[in-house]
Amino acid sequence: MTVGLARPRVAVVGAGIAGLACAHELLARGAWVTVFEKQLVAGGRVATVAAEPGTFDTGAQYFTVSHHRFEPVVQRWLDRGIARRWRARIAAFSGGTLVDKASPTERFVGVPGMGAIGRWLAQGLDVRLGTCVRRIDRRGGLWLLHDDRGRELSVSGFDAVCLALPSPQAVSLLAGHSPLADKLAVVDWEPCWAATLALARPSGLEFDGAFVNDDPILGWIARDSSKPGRAEVAGVAERWVLHARPRWSRQYFDMPEAQAAQWLVRAFSARVGRAVAPRHLAAVRWRYATPVNPLPTAFLWDEQARVGVAGDWCNGPRVEGAYLSGLALAQAIAA
Ligand SMILES: Cc1cc2nc3c(=O)[nH]c(=O)nc-3n(C[C@H](O)[C@H](O)[C@H](O)COP(=O)(O)OP(=O)(O)OC[C@H]3O[C@@H](n4cnc5c(N)ncnc54)[C@H](O)[C@@H]3O)c2cc1C
Repeated sequence: MTVGLARPRVAVVGAGIAGLACAHELLARGAWVTVFEKQLVAGGRVATVAAEPGTFDTGAQYFTVSHHRFEPVVQRWLDRGIARRWRARIAAFSGGTLVDKASPTERFVGVPGMGAIGRWLAQGLDVRLGTCVRRIDRRGGLWLLHDDRGRELSVSGFDAVCLALPSPQAVSLLAGHSPLADKLAVVDWEPCWAATLALARPSGLEFDGAFVNDDPILGWIARDSSKPGRAEVAGVAERWVLHARPRWSRQYFDMPEAQAAQWLVRAFSARVGRAVAPRHLAAVRWRYATPVNPLPTAFLWDEQARVGVAGDWCNGPRVEGAYLSGLALAQAIAA
C-alpha cells in the first residue's frame, strides 16, 4: 500500500455503494477499514422504505451492467439471491403517446428490495451507522474524525481517508486540506422528489416502468410491486414509485412532503389517463439525486494528504458507476 504501513488504517466516509465497494477492496488488500455512515442503514441512494402497504424503492430503481468488472459482482449477487432480473415491460410517454421501449437491456433489482444490496455489502465490514462525520483534521500524519458535536470519534487516527459522498458533502470535509476540494466543486447536482403510492385495485396499466418525457412534473413511474421477490400485502393490488423531473424538484424542493405527494399523484393520474384512489401516498426528497456533469475520472486521490474521493459523480450516475469508482479508488490506494 502506498500508505506505507504494514496494516494501514483507512476511514471510509459514506456507506453508499461506492463506499462499501471501496471498503471491501481495501479490506481484501490488507487494510484495517472502518466505514462511517450518517444514516441508520447502509446503501445510500440505493434505498428501500418500508411502509404499511409494503416496500418501495425510492432511489435507484434498478441497475444495469455494461462494464466487465461489474459483471462478476452482479453475478455474485444473483447467485446469493440478493438480486434478480426485473423482466419489466418498459414504455415511454413521448409527444403525448405511449411507446413501447422494449430493449435487450437487462435490468436487475435487489431482493426483497433495492436496499438489500447495501445490507449485503455491509456484511463483514466494520460499519458505524448513525455516525455523521462533520470534520476531518490531520495531525502528526494521522486523520482525526469529528462528529456533529465536534467530538473526536471513538475510532480515529487514520492513515488515509476515502470520502465516498456526493461531491458537495465531500467538499465541505476536504476544504482547507486538499486541492481536490476545488476539482470537486465544479460538479452540479439535481434533486429529485419521489412519491410512493399504493393502490387497492389494479390500475390496468400495461407497463411496469415508464420514462415520462413529455410532462412538466413527472420523469419516471414504476410499478414497484412488479419487481421480483416483493412481499404481497393483503388489500394492496399495486405499489408505484413516481419520480419528479429535476427542474420541478428543484423549483419545489422546500414544499411540504404531503403536498409534493399530491402533486405527483395528480400528475400520474393525468398522464396515465385514469382516476387514482391512493390507499397510501407519501413522498421523500433526494437533495443530491443525480450529478449533472460527472467528472471524467473514476476517482481522485491526493497522495500527499492521503485523502481520496469516489462516487457516482466520478464515474457515471448509476449504481455501476458508483461501485466501480469505489473499487478503483481502493485499488489505487493499495497499489
Ligand atoms: C431518485 C433516484 C433514482 C435513481 N435511479 C437509478 C437507477 O434506476 N439506476 C441506477 O443505476 N442508478 C440510479 N440512481 C443513482 C444511484 O442511486 C447512484 O448512482 C448510487 O447509488 C450512488 O452511490 P454513491 O455511493 O456514490 O453515493 P450515495 O448513495 O449518495 O452514498 C453516500 C453515502 O454517504 C452518506 N453520508 C453523506 N454525508 C455523510 C457524512 N458527513 N458522514 C457519514 N456519512 C455520510 C450518505 O448517507 C450516503 O449513505 C438513482 C438515484 C436517485 C436518487
